[in-house]
Amino acid sequence: MTISYVDFKDVEISDYDALIVGSGFAGSVVARQLADCRDLRVLIIEKRPHIGGNMYDELDENGVLVHRYGPHIFHSNDQRAFYYLRRYAGFIPYEHRVLANWHGTYMPVPFNKKSMVIAFGEEKAQHLIEKLIAKFGDGVKVTINELRSQDDPELAEVADFVYENVFLYYTQKQWGLTPEEVDPSVTARVPVFISEDDRYFQDKFQGMPVHGYTKLFESMLDYEGIDICLNTDAESVFELEFESDAEDAGLSAIKLKGQAFEGPIIYTGPLDELFLSRFGRLPYRSLDFVYETFDQEFVQPCGTVNYTVSEDYTRITEFKHMTYQRCPNTTIMKEYSRSYDDPRTQIPYYAIINEENNAHYERYRKLTETLPNFYPLGRLAEYRYYNMDKIVSLALELSDRIMAKLDAEAQL
Ligand SMILES: Cc1cc2nc3c(=O)[nH]c(=O)nc-3n(C[C@H](O)[C@H](O)[C@H](O)COP(=O)(O)OP(=O)(O)OC[C@H]3O[C@@H](n4cnc5c(N)ncnc54)[C@H](O)[C@@H]3O)c2cc1C
Repeated sequence: MTISYVDFKDVEISDYDALIVGSGFAGSVVARQLADCRDLRVLIIEKRPHIGGNMYDELDENGVLVHRYGPHIFHSNDQRAFYYLRRYAGFIPYEHRVLANWHGTYMPVPFNKKSMVIAFGEEKAQHLIEKLIAKFGDGVKVTINELRSQDDPELAEVADFVYENVFLYYTQKQWGLTPEEVDPSVTARVPVFISEDDRYFQDKFQGMPVHGYTKLFESMLDYEGIDICLNTDAESVFELEFESDAEDAGLSAIKLKGQAFEGPIIYTGPLDELFLSRFGRLPYRSLDFVYETFDQEFVQPCGTVNYTVSEDYTRITEFKHMTYQRCPNTTIMKEYSRSYDDPRTQIPYYAIINEENNAHYERYRKLTETLPNFYPLGRLAEYRYYNMDKIVSLALELSDRIMAKLDAEAQL
């Protein structure tokens, strides 16, 4: 079989039992589950010219496999999510390592025993490590706030070093903040790892799909009963009906081609855009990616180098370290964090989560609660940051709930 791509103008809405907006992990996992476990006919509407959401990867013009929406590394302690993805692709073990470029010297991140030697020199580092082990134990993570609360000037010095050389400038660049605006509660959580373990994640399952993410998605969506409309923005084909004309009136129906859709609608796009931003746009950070290709096998020692004290970009990713692709040239990607000002030209990457924005989001969410067959799911529709494994897990749970509801209705 091959994936069934259809043109929206040719679609007969009554042919479908479920409608899904978005083909990232949220949309694709639910689509596959409903088609696979209940033989439902599922229509996916995707505004991009490809499937796979932010996990999409492809060969660039130099033949190097790159992730188009930022580097994605699978890591998880959730066996169900990992085993589920392994149905669609083999995974090759990969443990991510990140180095900070600190004035031209590489230093492991999160800050650990090896970083301490680089920062303070062998002798002083050994003294500090012994002190840390005596206070907190070996092999544990402590926050810089815990270090500061010990009332020990040497431990405070470690905390200050990490804050100033690993955390502050990187965070400012990432969120577009002045030093004063950096949230103290986030600062408090910055870890020091009393260990030689320089893996970025300590999760049980870590790896990359052998042939890349796009192939994994193709395998998941190549299934009888699933049709996909690419280049189709839900807002351009949805007709929303509300309980009244009031600004806060909830949804009463979603029509397509003049017909109210009665089956489950799983929406994984941004909720503010669905409602044409009637309460104003939800704030996000966006990213710009700049690629460079070199005629050499590798240009940096690991997959990601964070620029914590210099440069305008936050980090450089060199994909070949993650994908194990073998070729004589290499492509790197510089990542610039930007404010999200224009939904027509930019992509919303990171929700800016705070009390005010959460309340703003809840206003939109409330509009959907009156439509029982509407399910917002995913990093955009829920205005949250989720790792891939969490999204797979939530999509599996939602599929189970929808199927249980359909089964119960069928028995009535
Ligand atoms: C830079 C970056 C790096 C990341 N790295 C990692 C990592 O290393 N490991 C990890 O576990 N997680 C990582 N993540 C998180 C990961 O990207 C998310 O967990 C994942 O994308 C969530 O899947 P999703 O389906 O909710 O959203 P998405 O992947 O964003 O998919 C949503 C889809 O909906 C489509 N869509 C949106 N609106 C509409 C509309 N109106 N009409 C039609 N289609 C629409 C979009 O085009 C998109 O294809 C990273 C995130 C970012 C931003």
